[in-house]
Amino acid sequence: MNQVDYIIVGGGFAGFFLAHQLKKSNASFVIFNGSQISGSHISAGVCNPVILKRFSTFWKSKVQMDYLDTIFSEIETYTRKNYLIKEPVARIFHDQAEKVQWLRNSDKDDLKPFLSQDFVTLESVENPLESGIVSGSCRIDVEGFFNDMRTYFESQGHIINDNFDYDSIDLSNSVYKNFTFKNIIFCEGIHVNQNPFFSTLPVVPNKGHCLEVEINQEIDPFIIKKKHFLFSLSKNRFYYGGTYGRLDNSEEIDPEFVEELENGLKAFYKNQYEIVKVKTAFRATVDDRRPILGTHPEYDNLKIFNGLGARGVLNGSYFSNVMCDYLQHKTELDPEIDVKRFY
Ligand SMILES: Cc1cc2nc3c(=O)[nH]c(=O)nc-3n(C[C@H](O)[C@H](O)[C@H](O)COP(=O)(O)OP(=O)(O)OC[C@H]3O[C@@H](n4cnc5c(N)ncnc54)[C@H](O)[C@@H]3O)c2cc1C
Repeated sequence: MNQVDYIIVGGGFAGFFLAHQLKKSNASFVIFNGSQISGSHISAGVCNPVILKRFSTFWKSKVQMDYLDTIFSEIETYTRKNYLIKEPVARIFHDQAEKVQWLRNSDKDDLKPFLSQDFVTLESVENPLESGIVSGSCRIDVEGFFNDMRTYFESQGHIINDNFDYDSIDLSNSVYKNFTFKNIIFCEGIHVNQNPFFSTLPVVPNKGHCLEVEINQEIDPFIIKKKHFLFSLSKNRFYYGGTYGRLDNSEEIDPEFVEELENGLKAFYKNQYEIVKVKTAFRATVDDRRPILGTHPEYDNLKIFNGLGARGVLNGSYFSNVMCDYLQHKTELDPEIDVKRFY
């Protein structure tokens, strides 16, 4: 029998950021990394403190942004790479009223650090009314992050590439197959809906589509945002996405959303491009826009870390630290994020 402090179920942002925190606090753990579709793996990885429709900000945006440098430099000590790419968001203005709104909001205390008053004109795309820069915004190299985290944790014997089987938990003895554990932490994104212990939680799948496109032209070095984000992945390879949809829970590509993406791209990029890949997956959203952390109401050894919504990187990195303190040091959870709010 193998003894571990924690079994983590899920290899997305929630699972891997938490694994990092547990490693840091010298806990023993394994991660069950299943074959289910993962929103994290196709995400744009954008870390943006501003809601780009209204030019407002959101709960804990500043502390979350500040924490990025900390966590990614800690991770760099063992993967030998820093995944933060400090290319800011350049938001193309749709009309003059938006520019006025941006300037007005840029004087507010909470937005001052983020809404730059110096507008830019991008060379490679249509932006007749210029673009606003979100200072401090950035993105992560999503593919590099997951490849390296998987490889590192695999080399340390932490990864089990298998689907976790809920029926095989012996709760009263804290045994799962050939493991004894103190806690199981479920980090399954939308697949929590199939988890018999937490399936009643109001985690709503929000389906996103994105494109990988080939463009044989230099594009300004920003995360260019009009309807969706456009940025460079590597030479001639670009990410464009993602869409939002709450109505369709199938894992199939929906042509309507591909059309939405094509129209969105054509609206500001007028040259030739070729679609290389279309991908789709789900965000695990919660209507109150707070993540879900905490303990099962009946089984003290079952925990949850979910509901990262559209901000898997910011919520995942920051709240993995909160979750780790809760697990390891029994710190209190803010009632706004505690799973207790649903029981
Ligand atoms: C198109 C798109 C673009 C996005 N862009 C951004 C962005 O720019 N910035 C940002 O911060 N966020 C973005 N997101 C949101 C982000 O991807 C989500 O918040 C994030 O995926 C949530 O991570 P998670 O670990 O909770 O869930 P997931 O990524 O869904 O991971 C869950 C994991 O659990 C595993 N799993 C489930 N059940 C089991 C089981 N029984 N046994 C073993 N393993 C299991 C799955 O295989 C999966 O690996 C985007 C999402 C989409 C879809």
